Amino acid sequence: MIMFKHKKKLGQHFLKDKNIVRKIVKIADIKPDDYVWEIGSGKGILTEELLNRNCNLTTFEIDEKLYPILEDKFSNKINLIKEDVLKANWKKLLPNEKVKIVANLPFQITSPFLFKVVKFSEHFSKIVIMIQKEVAQRIKAKVGSKDYGILTLKMQYYFDVSYEFTVKSHLFYPKPKVDSAVISLIPREEKPAIEDEKFFWSIVETSFRSRRKMLRNNLKEILNAEQIEELSDDFDLSKRGETFSEREFVNLYNRIRSLVENIK
Ligand code: SAM
Repeated sequence: MIMFKHKKKLGQHFLKDKNIVRKIVKIADIKPDDYVWEIGSGKGILTEELLNRNCNLTTFEIDEKLYPILEDKFSNKINLIKEDVLKANWKKLLPNEKVKIVANLPFQITSPFLFKVVKFSEHFSKIVIMIQKEVAQRIKAKVGSKDYGILTLKMQYYFDVSYEFTVKSHLFYPKPKVDSAVISLIPREEKPAIEDEKFFWSIVETSFRSRRKMLRNNLKEILNAEQIEELSDDFDLSKRGETFSEREFVNLYNRIRSLVENIK
């Protein structure tokens, strides 16, 4: 029996409940021969259920103390990548086929991980991940709610998002301070046509710079008084960014682009 000490800084809260694991794998709809990436295999509770589905499984694990446990349990049935998933060379590791991601993610890597997934989104067919409940609520938030923001817009721009179910903290060992939630992400087939995505996101970010401020005041950062006046003919700039849907931000971006182009 190999002794193992959980490391908080690596987000090592292991699932205890096999029903939750089965539910996650069912949502991911794993078929034989699917290419699957698991992030952070821990002691392998999810790994084992994935292997039951006869998929091609690659698992990432950063903690070398877990390698003997995983190798002992799964030997050559998994492709174990002994690296930080954020630093690994995804370009090289991704197969030609689409990949599904299934993970009980370590909380502390959620943002950079999602950022990386966005960058490689066309390589994935489905992503089913357990994250902090509060982050899941922000990703799935509705326009105008307190949780709605840049993360919501960004994730919903690239993916169709579903909030699948909540997982109470007592179902993990050691017990984390907060509850978790499982979400699924499917790359969107049709996104709004945006020529300059970098500029679009800079407008969104500026609009949320100070959440309590009206759009008029936040947009001062990138537009002069004259441009703001012109813009207010078509948009109610006394509103806050959090009341603007994706469609409204796309319209705002198109209008700002034409204003800025006219000046050039
Ligand atoms: N899958 C297991 C389960 O459900 O019980 C473990 C999940 S635990 C929340 C997260 C796992 O990710 C830990 O085993 C941890 O060592 C690993 N981990 C943390 N940071 C990582 C990183 N940057 N890259 C790869 N694995 C990481």
